Amino acid sequence: MVKRVGVIGIHHESNTFVDGLTTLADFKQHYWLEGDDVVGVFRNAYHELGGMFEALEEEGIVAVPLIYAEALPSGVVSGSVLSTFISRMGVAIDAAGPLDGFLVAPHGAAVSEFFLDMDGHWLTALRNKIGPHVPVVGTLDPHANLSKRMVAATDAMIAYKTNPHTDQRDVGREAALLIARMLRNEVKPVAHFVELPLAISIEQQHTAVEPCKSLFAYAAELESLVGVLSVSVCIGFPYSDVPEMGTSVLVIEERGTGAGPLVAERLRKFILSDKSRFNGLKKDVVTVISEMDVWETPILFLDMGDNIGGGAPGNLVGLLEAFEQHGKGPFFISIFDPEAVARACAYTPRDRFTLELGLRYKQPGGYRCNVELQWIKNGSFHEQHARHGGYTKFEMGLTALVITDHGNTIMLTSQRVPPFSLQQLLAFDMVPQAFRMIVAKGVNAPIAAYGPVCKTICQVDTEGPTQADMTRFTYIHRKVPLYPFEDS
Ligand SMILES: [Zn+2]
Repeated sequence: MVKRVGVIGIHHESNTFVDGLTTLADFKQHYWLEGDDVVGVFRNAYHELGGMFEALEEEGIVAVPLIYAEALPSGVVSGSVLSTFISRMGVAIDAAGPLDGFLVAPHGAAVSEFFLDMDGHWLTALRNKIGPHVPVVGTLDPHANLSKRMVAATDAMIAYKTNPHTDQRDVGREAALLIARMLRNEVKPVAHFVELPLAISIEQQHTAVEPCKSLFAYAAELESLVGVLSVSVCIGFPYSDVPEMGTSVLVIEERGTGAGPLVAERLRKFILSDKSRFNGLKKDVVTVISEMDVWETPILFLDMGDNIGGGAPGNLVGLLEAFEQHGKGPFFISIFDPEAVARACAYTPRDRFTLELGLRYKQPGGYRCNVELQWIKNGSFHEQHARHGGYTKFEMGLTALVITDHGNTIMLTSQRVPPFSLQQLLAFDMVPQAFRMIVAKGVNAPIAAYGPVCKTICQVDTEGPTQADMTRFTYIHRKVPLYPFEDS
């Protein structure tokens, strides 16, 4: 009898320090897919769902796509989105006929209006619906603030091993191959989960450089031990004020081997042996401006306080203003500002006018500058390669390109789009290397796109709802003690 596996996912990274709820419209603007539409969009994408579909097919298992939803990182998810998702998931399961198992794709750092552990909540609802014996295997974003409920509701979960996340498809394959083995009764996984009293600064979460490089290399070494099916390190998402915020380790062992506790303990000791290396440099704008003249160009400046991939708005102008005031450029920056685009629409290319754009963090008004309009276009573009998030299509809405009196290029977008693809410039006939500086509103994720064309990469400690120093926020729910808040 051919086995059938249901596929369900919802991705949201919820920043509890951002005002406003993330609504159903926000999900529908990005992804709210049911049934075969899920396969149509993700079959060939660098996303875990693509890897799941591919590997299930190779294993002779029928994939039954049920529902997948995703919104850009932003504020807390509205209660009605969560209840609608759970209800549509239930309808889809009832309509699907007999299912032998489930592959699930939570993000792991979703917070809803009424449930701090949103992913734990819907995974528990799934488990309650299908009963305790049906296999459930999942993937996780390593930014997950992993909870006991998420672990208890599933048989095994596997996190991506890269940040920027370029291995999502591989991890989806891994999850599908594991459930295939479970369905053939070849393996019985057991999860061993350990939360650590440490929150890693967003600045130190790039897995290709230290300290995470050594950490992930060590985890890979431990994964090769006998009896270990997978080792996941969740580096955590600092901008969710939830009890699980911080770092955790999830080891999946083959039942009876006892490898889980052993591996988790080794990783715990490795991570906690020198916590200060996970703190970051936190270079402020003044320091960066004083040092940058000797750096090789192009320089990629990462605006950590206005990190769109961490839920920030992408409209803060602090870095833009500081660079212009100090005569640094020419640079490229993209600002999410539908009102500025609308104002630019009153002009034609080569017109010069004064524009107030973006916002200052916790201060009134935006940045006022004289600009020359270059063009106004539909801002759709596509990405073919494996980039952070597995996105293939980007919609910036109506988009205006202006050049300031200082010679800097500002792309004004009507929709909020993270800087995950170089196509944001290439598709609009701009050569990234023609700029001395590129300012991207992110921390690590844009490096997958811009790293190959920039000779220097600099993360700047700017203010905003994703500022690098998490001790500047007031948390209500986080665990205590937790480094760097407490050092114990
Ligand atoms: Zn992530």
